[in-house]
Amino acid sequence: MGAMSKPLRASSSQDAGASRGPSRSAPPAVMGTYARQDVVFARGEGSWLETEDGARYLDFGSGVAVNALGHAHPRLVAALTEQAGKLWHTSNLYRVAGQEDLAARLVAATFADRVFFCNSGAEACEGAIKAARRYHFVSGQPERWRIVTCRGAFHGRTLATLAAAGNEKYLEGFGPEAPGFDHVPFADLEAVRAAIGPETAAVMIEPVQGEGGVHVPPADYLRGLRALCDEAGILLVLDEVQTGMGRSGKLFSHEWAGIAPDIMAVAKGLGGGFPVGAVLATEAAAAGLTPGTHGSTFGGNPLAMAVGTTLLDIMLEPGFLEGVEQKGQHMRQGLARLQDQFPALVTEIRGQGLLTGIKVNAEPRDVVTAALAEGLLVVGAGDNVVRVIPPLNVAEHEISEGLDRLARALAAVSKSQT
Ligand SMILES: *Cc1c(COP(=O)(O)O)cnc(C)c1O
Repeated sequence: MGAMSKPLRASSSQDAGASRGPSRSAPPAVMGTYARQDVVFARGEGSWLETEDGARYLDFGSGVAVNALGHAHPRLVAALTEQAGKLWHTSNLYRVAGQEDLAARLVAATFADRVFFCNSGAEACEGAIKAARRYHFVSGQPERWRIVTCRGAFHGRTLATLAAAGNEKYLEGFGPEAPGFDHVPFADLEAVRAAIGPETAAVMIEPVQGEGGVHVPPADYLRGLRALCDEAGILLVLDEVQTGMGRSGKLFSHEWAGIAPDIMAVAKGLGGGFPVGAVLATEAAAAGLTPGTHGSTFGGNPLAMAVGTTLLDIMLEPGFLEGVEQKGQHMRQGLARLQDQFPALVTEIRGQGLLTGIKVNAEPRDVVTAALAEGLLVVGAGDNVVRVIPPLNVAEHEISEGLDRLARALAAVSKSQT
């Protein structure tokens, strides 16, 4: 293999390390798992990103709903750098003060009694699946291990979370699908009822499907799921990796429905750009995860905890979440005007809080690329949807600016279609 790799490299006169600029002929050392836009950012501030040569972009993608407080938020920078000078990592062989702080805050702010920290959304979903299975195992019903999940879902890229979502496109070529998941259509209570059997441990869903195309279910769906799970004696697991941490206009999206899950996966916005995930659970649902049953070397790292704790403090300040909801309404109204302006291209407006999207009569990627040319970052999703997901502390005037840029991008795509 080593001997093979050399001739595949481009001539050394094109040293990839010498230039940060996008060089088409540079040999790709990074694996080709992403279809990336040809742009490199050097710095960010608030809702803005800048390239090395000073081109500025309004970031309405937030690194896929991650930069909840925009870029380089002074309080997050201070929290991270202060912690960086003290202690980075000790492992979970010891108590970690930052974990105890952030867990206590999350418990105080949510339904949960217990928190497990990990590093990503997929890991949080895996942890949630494991917690649900172990709950029944230690409750004397080890036969309950299957989980009802929804088509169009996204729970991450590990083998189990891929099987949970059941998206053929992502499963192909990776061997036999991990067993134990029963797929039903999203927002269909009767289908869930029919899928629950004597082996069912839990129902796991996203309150709003994000990657799948910003599908917001009817308000009574989550309440119906809660009732179904209670009747059957099984757990309700919510994947709030994308909808959580203020994105929906509440701290967590399920609060809109007035219900609580038994287990919840959180990540993305939790670290505001620092990798961190968490599994939240009630005391009962966490009962199976006893010492030695689950773990992570990096999970709950002091750096991640310092950032997460500060971020949560900011989000829980009076008015922050109300502001997200107001700005979400402003955004949806603006997107609805774009639909009026481009009725052939924009066919639907979707959203909850600042998790918004437009369904387009085009390749979402063409809209994303046209927006990039207008200095606006947006993110594609399934079902022909383009997600418009700015930082939660975006300014009202930035929303107006972003909508103007999106209008120009949509005009360009419309023109290219005729
Ligand atoms: C992004 C996402 C994940 C996976 O998160 P990673 O950090 O990429 O592993 C899981 N569930 C939902 C709902 C997501 O949006």
